[in-house]
Amino acid sequence: MSSINDQATVIVGAGPAGLTAALVLARYRHRVVVVDSPRAPRNDASQGVHGHIGLDGVPPAEIRARAWRELSRYPTVQLREADVDAVRAADEGGFRVELDGGEAVEAATVVLATGVVDVHPTHVEGFAECWGRTVIHCPFCHGEENAGRRWATVSDSADLAALSAVAFRPWSHDTIAICDASTPGVDEARTAARSRGGDVVAGTVRRLHHRQGSLYAVELADGQVLERETLVWTPPQRQQPLVTRAVDELKLTVDDGGFLSVDEARCTNVPGLYAAGDVSARWKQSFTASAAAGATAADAIHAAAVLGAVHG
Ligand SMILES: Cc1cc2nc3c(=O)[nH]c(=O)nc-3n(C[C@H](O)[C@H](O)[C@H](O)COP(=O)(O)OP(=O)(O)OC[C@H]3O[C@@H](n4cnc5c(N)ncnc54)[C@H](O)[C@@H]3O)c2cc1C
Repeated sequence: MSSINDQATVIVGAGPAGLTAALVLARYRHRVVVVDSPRAPRNDASQGVHGHIGLDGVPPAEIRARAWRELSRYPTVQLREADVDAVRAADEGGFRVELDGGEAVEAATVVLATGVVDVHPTHVEGFAECWGRTVIHCPFCHGEENAGRRWATVSDSADLAALSAVAFRPWSHDTIAICDASTPGVDEARTAARSRGGDVVAGTVRRLHHRQGSLYAVELADGQVLERETLVWTPPQRQQPLVTRAVDELKLTVDDGGFLSVDEARCTNVPGLYAAGDVSARWKQSFTASAAAGATAADAIHAAAVLGAVHG
């Protein structure tokens, strides 16, 4: 098999970013090893991924299975199910990618496509059952499926709470915001929200009342029960443990939210180490944006290999 780059690219993570990077590199006939964790991916609770043409509404597991089948047709691609424990700089240049179980893969280039971890509230009964259905992190992803219902949003910003009735109007004409009573500006936000047809309730969510994941009421810590059918709640995020370790060991640059900093080619500050998808995307997190980032990284890896071949 002729290949412009005999050394493998290891792609860590088989979400849309990693899978697209793998497919694009396969088309360039690069050797690729995709390593994906056997753990359920972050969007596992989704009943269908929305907003990507040709795949709208297809469950995440089915998309992965299809992609896996497509990639397995390429002779330069190897697919591995394992957790990557560490990515280290190799003494002889390139990287050493260490898998759980002790095996290591040498790589000229690595793409970190690990996504991020949502930090779910542990103290809210019913959260897990409703998550991805009627407790949603993103109206783009789940709004259509929740349209016309009575919405609430949990917000730690009084400014956003004041705007919520307008911001969610494409999906619901009945939206209130729930803000912790200690949130600065909560009274002004309530006045502004009411002038826009919404409201702001001060309190902390304690329990979600639901029937098989279909929310019908939100209970606050003070005992108030709000009749709400959809709750927009965007939990904080953190990096996968592997990425946190790589940031320390390889001195990777991150932004103030801990997301990996990359250039236009999706390369980190360490040459040969790329990052694509949510791992380096604080604001634009979506299936399509991640796939596009994976393709950009793969194009850049191929361009660098061609330039390397030209200049010896
Ligand atoms: C519930 C939910 C519903 C969503 N719905 C939509 C939607 O409808 N439309 C949309 O556009 N976006 C949606 N999103 C967002 C979208 O899923 C993400 O933006 C996208 O999947 C990010 O792609 P990614 O490739 O960067 O990471 P991910 O898809 O998160 O994939 C990362 C992969 O890396 C693996 N991994 C992590 N660490 C390691 C390791 N150490 N070793 C090996 N593998 C590892 C993970 O297991 C995972 O398989 C949703 C998100 C959630 C949480």
